[in-house]
Amino acid sequence: LEEQLRQSQKMEAVGRLAGGVAHDFNNLLTIIRGNAELLRSPAEDAAASALFDDLLLAADRATALVRQLLMFSRRQPVRVEILDLNEVVTTVSGLLRRLLGEHITVETALAPVPVTVRADRSHLEQVILNLAVNARDAMPGGGTLTVGTVALERKLGEPRFARLTVTDTGTGMTDEVKGQIFEPFFTTKGPDKGTGLGLATVFGIVEQAGGRIGVESEPGAGTTFHVELPWWEGNASVLGRTPAPRSLSGR
Ligand code: ADP
Repeated sequence: LEEQLRQSQKMEAVGRLAGGVAHDFNNLLTIIRGNAELLRSPAEDAAASALFDDLLLAADRATALVRQLLMFSRRQPVRVEILDLNEVVTTVSGLLRRLLGEHITVETALAPVPVTVRADRSHLEQVILNLAVNARDAMPGGGTLTVGTVALERKLGEPRFARLTVTDTGTGMTDEVKGQIFEPFFTTKGPDKGTGLGLATVFGIVEQAGGRIGVESEPGAGTTFHVELPWWEGNASVLGRTPAPRSLSGR
């Protein structure tokens, strides 16, 4: 718990800093990019042209990084609604099949009952997407990605948890890597491919939703991420408090 608190304070500080810097940076990058493009067009010699192309490429990469920083820092506003995780996973799995390509099989393993949570749909989609993109990167030779849901009951009569699992058959991680993955800017993919913000973003979203995230991974044996979110019963007697001022339609 102490570790989680330390991590979240760090996330907040980085987020605030990143948000401020990213905004100004974005404006500067627009100027750099625009002027580079203008200068490039009449360039006759090939060497100068190639240099401008590199410049544009670097500016594009910086723009993408800034966009991710903005996304990372902008965790508000949250638009919560009552959702069935099964439905969210089913919706996203179509996108994942297209995104991950033919050499990766996307499977779903859904709980036989609705897995009800109160959360922001776009945030949940972002969580699944970020975990899936990492899974893809860990399976360069192809493999299987399984997105699953579970309705967890801690003890009889105790509020349940909704669990989302994302499993890959990829490279897995050493304990050393595993211990750092949620740190902002930690990446093993090199500065050209990784930003190290994917899992920090996931961590922030899960925490904001009142949940927890865990990981199981062994080198060579693939990886499973577990995301646990508070169960939404919509029933005051079960949770012992007032239900959200909103009814679950059709149920
Ligand atoms: P990035 O993807 O930009 O590197 P992330 O925060 O998403 O940033 O991930 C941090 C690191 O965690 C990755 O560089 C990788 O080493 C490790 N990682 C994350 N997911 C997986 C996975 N499914 N399998 C193996 N390693 C992973």
